[in-house]
Amino acid sequence: MPDNFDSQLTYRLSIPEPENHLLEVELAIANWQNDILNLKLPVWTPGSYLVREYAKNLQDFIAIDELGNLLEWQKISKNHWQINCQDRLTNQESILGITIRYRIFGNELTVRTSHIDSTHAFLTGASVFMYVAEPHQLRQQPYTVEIVNLKENWQVGTALPTVPNRSNTFYAKDFDTLVDSPLEIGLQERYEFDVLDKKHRFIVWGQHNADMERMVRDTSAIVAVESEMFGGLPYDRYDFILHAGNGYGGLEHKDCTVLLYNRLGFRKEESYLQFMNLVAHEFFHTWNVKRIRPKALEKFDYDQENYTGSLWFSEGTTSYYDQIFPLRAKLYNAKHYLKLVSKGLTRLQTTFGRNVQSLHESSFDTWIKLYRPDANTHNNQISYYLKGEMVSMLLDLLIRHKTNNLRSLDRVMQIMWERFGKDETGFEEAELHQVIENVAGMDLSNFWKDYLYGTKELDYNYYLEPFGLELRNSRQDFPFIGMTLKAKSAIAEVEKVEIGSPAQKAGISSGDLVLAINEIRVTAENFNDRLRDFSAHEAIAVTIFQQDLLKTVKVTLQEPIASHFELAQITNASPNQEINLQMWLNI
Ligand SMILES: [Zn+2]
Repeated sequence: MPDNFDSQLTYRLSIPEPENHLLEVELAIANWQNDILNLKLPVWTPGSYLVREYAKNLQDFIAIDELGNLLEWQKISKNHWQINCQDRLTNQESILGITIRYRIFGNELTVRTSHIDSTHAFLTGASVFMYVAEPHQLRQQPYTVEIVNLKENWQVGTALPTVPNRSNTFYAKDFDTLVDSPLEIGLQERYEFDVLDKKHRFIVWGQHNADMERMVRDTSAIVAVESEMFGGLPYDRYDFILHAGNGYGGLEHKDCTVLLYNRLGFRKEESYLQFMNLVAHEFFHTWNVKRIRPKALEKFDYDQENYTGSLWFSEGTTSYYDQIFPLRAKLYNAKHYLKLVSKGLTRLQTTFGRNVQSLHESSFDTWIKLYRPDANTHNNQISYYLKGEMVSMLLDLLIRHKTNNLRSLDRVMQIMWERFGKDETGFEEAELHQVIENVAGMDLSNFWKDYLYGTKELDYNYYLEPFGLELRNSRQDFPFIGMTLKAKSAIAEVEKVEIGSPAQKAGISSGDLVLAINEIRVTAENFNDRLRDFSAHEAIAVTIFQQDLLKTVKVTLQEPIASHFELAQITNASPNQEINLQMWLNI
């Protein structure tokens, strides 16, 4: 923190009528000397790799000088405003004070958008704050943010430090920090706790059924085990901003995270533990991706997509550890852990897209695919979160086995932190691979070729065998048709159809309404059960509405397919296998 909090750039925010979901933004720019002022609003926010076009929610833009005269401006592109300062500068003075005003509409409750209502205003930096595009050094200048006319009982929760002796005024050392520090303004509960002498807070918006004492205790345990891996905590203070609402999500920031969870999802044990996986995931990003960043994310380009093939590590490895750390923190046992992995394996191994899209491609194309799922997604994509998690698990097992449990994937994380994270130097893909190969003590070019750049089926059992584990699967107890129905639709609506399946060959498509099998009505609820009345290779008549046309198609059913996968312990494990498993999962 500097001694002097004066900044050339000051934001003033107010929410006079939160019911209309509008935020009033004022940006004061002091000492402006250029003829032209170029302002831009980010099109995406780091951590969520989709161009979200935040500018669509911006309205009522004006620019005025210090005397209150309107300045001329024009739009250059969807997120670019250009203000003409030339007349004012030549006619009167050489230095100008400019005030920009605009309003932002926010009524989307997710972790990466803004949401304003009568109880709070959650502000995502990228959706609210413009930056001065030229000179681009201004992105490195400090900003102050003042929240004015705050409603009674409303508080401001943010990871930004406060400016001393000025109420509700905060300081960001540069634009990246401003964007990386969401503001939770409104009615809120606060729970403060210390871990390793650092202050942590839960800032909670919304009614919920959580036992906050337990949540604070378990979160402290997760913070402690994660910091142990990296040898300390890289921040002064950390906030967990929790939105207890309707939905699911998390977004990482350097000194805080935003979590969205079902407000009534905290009582049931399994659902509570799933929330703790989310906490462990977002908190692990404090290191992996917020500080250990792929080269393409070293300096954010807020104007367009930032392409990287390394999200399998930034997100997938984080997903692997989000299940490992609660185990190490003793929130659950190895049996629960294996159950979680089995669930993930079932999802991956029943997704046809794993044969089509490589892990690397999934990461690179996230901007157009992962964040834009549709009815064909399962046929041509896999998630880099999910496959990245499994590949990370296999790498951990490989390193442990090859080094006789002397090293593990933890060592990879530690070296990545030392070499790239501490100084925030972006890593190249080849550098990441080299670190992993050095830790494993072996060449992994075939591993990358098959599992990262290729779509070869992961050879689970090869990696599991030294740990006395194996992959088992079980088949559906009804013939395979290859289509799933939307669970909640009144009339059975086809959600997705598997490529090459009996349903697809018969011409059934997503969006079709299924009315009957062999002239007897079916519903979304009894559809699979009805299939049990038939055997594989039997032909059935399926009646559908397709684009409003009534049709009956002949579908020839096939043998049931594997639908459930499980990581199971083998019987008669050798002492070596038992030791390895013990070292890995503390069984
Ligand atoms: Zn993540």
